[in-house]
Parts: sequence; C-alpha cells; structure tokens
Amino acid sequence: MDFLIATHNMKKQAELQRILEPLGINVLTAEMAGKILSDVEETGETFEENAYLKASSGCRESGMVCVADDSGLAVDALDGAPGVYSARFAGEHGNDKKNNEKLLELLKDVPEKNRTARFVSAVCCCFPDGRQLTVRGECEGRIAFEPHGEGGFGYDPLFLVGEKTFGELTAEEKDKISHRGNALRKLARELEAFLNTENGEKKV
Ligand code: IMP
Repeated sequence: MDFLIATHNMKKQAELQRILEPLGINVLTAEMAGKILSDVEETGETFEENAYLKASSGCRESGMVCVADDSGLAVDALDGAPGVYSARFAGEHGNDKKNNEKLLELLKDVPEKNRTARFVSAVCCCFPDGRQLTVRGECEGRIAFEPHGEGGFGYDPLFLVGEKTFGELTAEEKDKISHRGNALRKLARELEAFLNTENGEKKV
C-alpha cells in the first residue's frame, strides 16, 4: 500500500519509510509519486491542526493516503512559546541561529529549575474515504544557558535531556527519544489497528 508524505524533506520520508515498512506500507514524496501538491499555509493554532491542514490537502489533491507532521518547541516559562511559530520565532522562516539567540535572550533571567520545555510532534494521516488518524509525540527537557553540540538542527543545541543537548547526540540516539520518533512509533502502532478495522468494525 502506498502512502504519500507531504514533505520535500527526504530524511523525513526515509524515517517514516523505515517505521512503516513492517506494515507493508511504501512511503512516497509527491515527487516520487509523480504528484504536484500546493503549498499549504500553516494557519492552525495547534500542531495537530497544522498537521491536519497539510495531510488533508495532500490527500484531496492526490487521491492517496497522505501523512503530514508539524512540530516545534514549547517552553514553560514562555507560556508554551514558540510553539507553532517555532520555525519563524525570530521573524525569518527557518533562521535557526536567530531563533536560538531570541530564545536565550528571553530566558536570560530564568533560573535552571524553571527552564523546562518539551519538543512536540503531531502526525496526521488522512484517507481518501474521509477517515483520519492523528497522534502526538513529546520529549521533555530543559533549555540550556548556551548552545552545546554541532549535530541536529533548529533548537537542538539548546535542548537538554539529562546532561546532553540534542545537538550532542547521534541521529540514532536522538531518534530513540525524540518527539518525532515517539509520534511515528505511536502512528505505526495505531495504524496497524486502524487498518484492520472498517467503519469501526474489526475486519475478519
Ligand atoms: P517542522 O514542523 O519539522 O517544520 O519544524 C518546525 C520548527 O520546529 C523547526 O524549524 C525547528 O525550529 C523546530 N523543531 C522541530 N523539531 C525539531 C527538532 O527535532 N530539533 C530542533 N528543532 C526542531
């Protein structure tokens, strides 16, 4: 069974392929499936809404089962910010350096015990028959006082789990505990049960 993933990011395609392959699912980007998808504006107020906007649009336009994710960082001392604005926290979309500088500046007077935060990933899967499945994965941590490590992307150098930041972990170490890893593993578990039911009835 072919699933479309609404991203151009080949790392996300490969990660989802690895996780869904045991269920007999083949994960394709729009390019791989020969489809053209419109860019979707992320106007939702939650990660789940944004993941749904992307997955439902991809499903409608392609006629295929479509999976999309939305993720970001929620900092307790900032009432959950940057949240759905994580990619454009400092104004310019995807400027990791400026986003990290802004975060450190806002937290400069916040003591260690109050620097708690979590990465969140929502993944939505929409089916052409109208059914949908949404899961959420989280990873709890703290915001460091300065960047550590060269690995990963985004807020990784500032996100501490225990004594190390995500920027100091290998990709495999991060996958095992990350919000995205947790969400995708949950998706695989729920999808297995979901694909065995039709209209809420268990398939025999
Ligand atoms: P996206 O939903 O994958 O596009 O992520 C949105 C934004 O959230 C990214 O631009 C990053 O700033 C932040 N983010 C999401 N996941 C991670 C992560 O695993 N590490 C660091 N930053 C992340």
